[in-house]
Amino acid sequence: MNIAPYTLNLNSIGVEVNKDIAHSPVLSLYYVHKAGCTHGTGLFAARNIYKNEEIIKVIGPVVGEQVADILYSSYGIDVLIQVGTKKWILPSNETRFINHSCEPNLGFKAAGMFVTMCDIKKGEELTWDYSMCEINGSDYNWTIDCLCKTKSCRGKISNLDIFKKDLRLAQKYKGYLPRFVLKEISRRGLI
Ligand SMILES: [Zn+2]
Repeated sequence: MNIAPYTLNLNSIGVEVNKDIAHSPVLSLYYVHKAGCTHGTGLFAARNIYKNEEIIKVIGPVVGEQVADILYSSYGIDVLIQVGTKKWILPSNETRFINHSCEPNLGFKAAGMFVTMCDIKKGEELTWDYSMCEINGSDYNWTIDCLCKTKSCRGKISNLDIFKKDLRLAQKYKGYLPRFVLKEISRRGLI
C-alpha cells in the first residue's frame, strides 16, 4: 500500500524530518488493510506470528511536549507515540495505523518497539493498548471512547489508565511496558 506522507509542513512548526529513515526489515510480518477493528485502516498479521516476535519499531521525528501538544490541539494529529518522559515520535511508518484494543496482542519490548504478547494467527489484526505508554498528565490529558468491543473493553480510554489500580493494567501488561512507564509506575508507588 502506498502511504501518503503528512501534508502538514513540519518544518514550519520546528520539527526536523529525517529523510533518510530506513524501512523496517520485518515488513513481511504484517500488511495494512482498510477494514481495521475501530478506525478503518489497521495492521494485520501476514503470517502466523509467535509470542515475543518483534513486529515494528516506530520511526519518525521526535518531538517534545510543546510540539506534541500543538500537533494534537491545533492539527488534530493523534497518532503520536510516547517513547520517553515528555518525548514522543510522530510516526512516519505503519505504526500509525495500529488500532487500539482493550485486549491487545502487541506490547513493547523497548520504547517504541512493538512485540507480540501472544501467538497471533495469520489474518488477525494487530493492536495495542494506547494507554500503555501515554503517561503525561496535566496539559496533555485525553480521553477517547473505545470501540474495540472486546470483553474487557473499558469504554473510555485515557492517557493515565495505566496508573489506575482498579484496572490492574500494569499487571496485565507485565513484561511489555517500556522502561520509562515502569519507572513512573514505581515512582507513584503503584507496584
Ligand atoms: Zn475497548
